[in-house]
Amino acid sequence: MIETRKSFCRFCHAFCGIEANVDANNNQIVAIRGDRENPASGGYTCSKGRAELERLYHQERLLSSKKRVNGVFTEIGPQQALDEIAQKLREIIAQHGPRSVAIYVGCPGHRNSASGPKFLRKWLDAIGSPGYYSAFTVDSPSLSIARGRFWGGPMPLNYFDIANADVAMFIGTNPLVSHLFTVMPQSNPFKLLRDARQRGMKMIVVDPRRCEVAKQADLHLQLKPGEDATLLAAMLKLVIEQKLFNQDYVAAYASGLEELHDAVRDFDLDYAARRTEVPANLIEAAAVMFATAKRGGIQTGTGLAMARHQNLSTQLAMSLNGLCGRYDRRGGLTSHPTVLAPPLADPPEAIPLPLFPGPVSRIRGIKMINNPMGIQEMPSNTLTDEILTPSDGQIRALFVNGGNPALVFPDEAGTVQALKSLDLLVVNDLFMSATAKFAHYVLACKHPFERTDVAWLMDGSYSLPFMQYSPPLVKPAAGLFHEFEIFWDLARQIGIDLDIPGIGMDRKPTADEMLNGLFADARIPLGEIRKHPGGHVFGERDPKVNCILPHMICHPDKRMALGHPEVIEELLEVRAEPIIESGGYEVGEKFAYRMITYRIGDVYCTQGQNLPSVQRRSSYNPVLMNARDMEDLDVKDGELVQIGNDFGRVEGIARATRDLNQGVIGLAHGWGDPSDNRDVREKGTNVQALIPDDYRYDRVTGLALMSAVPVNVTAVARRFAGAD
Ligand code: SF4
Repeated sequence: MIETRKSFCRFCHAFCGIEANVDANNNQIVAIRGDRENPASGGYTCSKGRAELERLYHQERLLSSKKRVNGVFTEIGPQQALDEIAQKLREIIAQHGPRSVAIYVGCPGHRNSASGPKFLRKWLDAIGSPGYYSAFTVDSPSLSIARGRFWGGPMPLNYFDIANADVAMFIGTNPLVSHLFTVMPQSNPFKLLRDARQRGMKMIVVDPRRCEVAKQADLHLQLKPGEDATLLAAMLKLVIEQKLFNQDYVAAYASGLEELHDAVRDFDLDYAARRTEVPANLIEAAAVMFATAKRGGIQTGTGLAMARHQNLSTQLAMSLNGLCGRYDRRGGLTSHPTVLAPPLADPPEAIPLPLFPGPVSRIRGIKMINNPMGIQEMPSNTLTDEILTPSDGQIRALFVNGGNPALVFPDEAGTVQALKSLDLLVVNDLFMSATAKFAHYVLACKHPFERTDVAWLMDGSYSLPFMQYSPPLVKPAAGLFHEFEIFWDLARQIGIDLDIPGIGMDRKPTADEMLNGLFADARIPLGEIRKHPGGHVFGERDPKVNCILPHMICHPDKRMALGHPEVIEELLEVRAEPIIESGGYEVGEKFAYRMITYRIGDVYCTQGQNLPSVQRRSSYNPVLMNARDMEDLDVKDGELVQIGNDFGRVEGIARATRDLNQGVIGLAHGWGDPSDNRDVREKGTNVQALIPDDYRYDRVTGLALMSAVPVNVTAVARRFAGAD
């Protein structure tokens, strides 16, 4: 008997609603499609979502847990694995203390509400360890820093009201492919953008690559990678000096205009044009188009957040939004009432959450931050050195929960060395990932369609106050874990209590009980959300405006800080930097290229590369290169090139494109398993071999320079001929 059941996709953070045809007699999903009745996604799915059944029924899917003995993985029963891990954990804590235990949560780990960041932070708190690390500090910690400086604390203005915008500016983000929840549009981006464009909305895209969204833009500012701060400073100068900003709004809600103006005074158009390689008239046109539109907003993405001066660039984009009155206004950055968080007071009050809650890494003195979800986390770019560096607090036990550090952390060799050196490495995953290969235990987990969940990560970021609960669509194989069960059982065995309402240590909780406990103070009780298969809109559909400012600004003067002292200081540093014609950042640095990252639509970071449909299209991440650069190197499409810098060398497959300027190459992160000996054409190229963790890192967040990286490129045939 075929039944239709509703759920939501969790391949990425957009959580599109789906319908599944389930063969109930055989406990099998036979088809999935977008749920047309879902008010947030309207039936949309992308190629990744449509491939979810390949992931669920993949022949390499882990259906039992594994233990590594003498370098060989053998099957182990689930409780036996937990008993052995608990024993080892007890020994490690007794010998090295609670700080020696850490968890890394990757993107899939975030999309699991019962076992995700809220739960894992509580588990570590119970142990007494600050060691929560996540993918957030691998690519976007500048969001926390810039918001902390600008607003003084959390600010729930996450939703870009694009349906009412007259102008949208996307910087370093490609929403048609990335569907990121920090950037609108996300689910169904093609329709949202098309509708807005047909209504007359103008679109400006700032990106070194003529990416999918740039191809649709009115203005594409194809800047030199890593020069976002210069471009934004020049736009701010023009908007301030031509008095194009919203003077009433600034007078009411902003401070530091004079200081900001002083700091951008020397970023004139000619200077910015020389440095960014964007024509001056185009920078001017973009500034005027953005500032003179009645409604609109700027959204930034990882292209900016992984490059240098990321905190500054993020905040300058926010300052342009602030100057032009884009926050808490129709068509700008707005809010929806969250469903799973407690209701805001009326009028709303500031949430005093310190940006830096206290603990400091032993490595480079980088501080713990509160991320935008209010979770305290340590900087991921220090994790491998926290493992490798002896002294009090050295990490000896690491749990990797739905993540893949071996492919996404800088310094590939150092990461592998760190993973190999641990006393205990436990990886919870669906597959034997690049990281799992180094684990002592690999715990086989349920696919999202096999577990109970609620769409917490999208709370407040959907296009309306929507929330969806999903029971499992099918029963999992015996012995597969819902990840919270692993940590709950370990807590029980090592004798700690979890501070979660309704969760005791006498009986293993169900996923529903765990969700009830984690969201006990929700505005809408979970019991109510469960009554609506396919989800429900819990409030007015239009985003709220004119209600957050100035109440929720945490600065004592209740004003957004345009002239924050650290921003002013860094602006002056940027202005003092030399203009380098080629790929380097300093005089005398001999690099011909800057390497950027980009997203491949069929995969999400390190997920999806092993799916048959993806493999049929491409089994590697090509090195995108300008065709003229390839001609100069005498390299043809599909030939091998070597990319190198002072830190490392990798080989990749060149692919000609007209979408990049000369002197820029593109290489996607998340490919090239370091312990896979196959050819680069079969496994791809690991960018991280070119990225050190302790050079040109951000001094506040510790983030390595993950994009706009200076490199050289050579033809491999020439290298073998000795002409490197
Ligand atoms: S955008 Fe694609 S991968 Fe993301 S939730 Fe929707 S269907 Fe799934």
